[in-house]
Amino acid sequence: MLPVHCGTCKGPLFEFKGKVVCPVCGEKPTRVKAEGKPKEAPLGKVEGVLRAKLNTLAKQLEEETDHAKTLELLDRIKSILDALEKLKAR
Ligand SMILES: [Zn+2]
Repeated sequence: MLPVHCGTCKGPLFEFKGKVVCPVCGEKPTRVKAEGKPKEAPLGKVEGVLRAKLNTLAKQLEEETDHAKTLELLDRIKSILDALEKLKAR
């Protein structure tokens, strides 16, 4: 299902074989009205990216000897953990 609706019947549009198709009106809807809100990334992907980032930061933290940089890394790790927490809460 696409984040756009058919301009004729207001039904949700689908992408089929690279073409935008309205299941109600047929293959070529006359007007395609895009909705204002940006396409939301699937949460599974966001979580994957956050976890990958967390692993990178953990490795950096392991090798970091500078106190100030260690604190900075911990701060970033905390931000990512917060974000993951919020994803779970949805
Ligand atoms: Zn339609």
